Amino acid sequence: MPPTLHRQGWIEVIVGPMFSGKSEELIRRVKRALIAKQSVAVFKPRLDNRYHEAHVVSHDGERVEAIPVESALEMEPYLTPLPQVVAVDEAQFLDRGLVALAEELAGQGVRVILAGLDLDFRGEPFGIMPELLARAEFVEKLTAICVRCGAPATRTQRLVDGLPARYSDPVILVGAQERYEPRCRACHQVRY
Ligand code: ADP
Ligand code: ZN
Repeated sequence: MPPTLHRQGWIEVIVGPMFSGKSEELIRRVKRALIAKQSVAVFKPRLDNRYHEAHVVSHDGERVEAIPVESALEMEPYLTPLPQVVAVDEAQFLDRGLVALAEELAGQGVRVILAGLDLDFRGEPFGIMPELLARAEFVEKLTAICVRCGAPATRTQRLVDGLPARYSDPVILVGAQERYEPRCRACHQVRY
């Protein structure tokens, strides 16, 4: 069949805890599309500046250029002409507008790749991710290695001054030392 008849869009979602390789996998898929000379637009929420602002960077140092946005609406000016592939990293931080936009793009024939945390540090579904997972044609759930026991890690452990975070802790804590590590269900801890 000629390629035009294959111009069908869909939604792919990549989830898992921190360090499970979501960014790595998103970068891999984007790079392969670029090798195939497809047009690609990559976005990331502006609030995530753990590495270089205008790139998606994985923990192992791989990177692709990305446009930082504060909302799904801010993506729209970059979508004319329509790219063949639209990728978004750290999608859990974006607003509900991304759900409608992803659906619309897929309907227009775009391959939409969305990566993000499926669970927050408490082990609760994160923002719009449950809805994106439900609407996706393809879902990849990645695991890291639990730093405590070596089992597949499906949860992100938040530690505040060395102790498991409390359920009621705000997402942003001022003046505390905090870090995150991948853990399995059994080793993941939340204080109530
Ligand atoms: P994510 O986007 O899911 O946070 P990244 O793609 O940024 O993940 O990083 C994945 C990389 O993290 C792995 O390739 C590995 O180099 C590193 N890493 C560090 N700690 C762990 C761990 N405990 N389990 C798995 N990978 C880890
Ligand atoms: Zn464990």
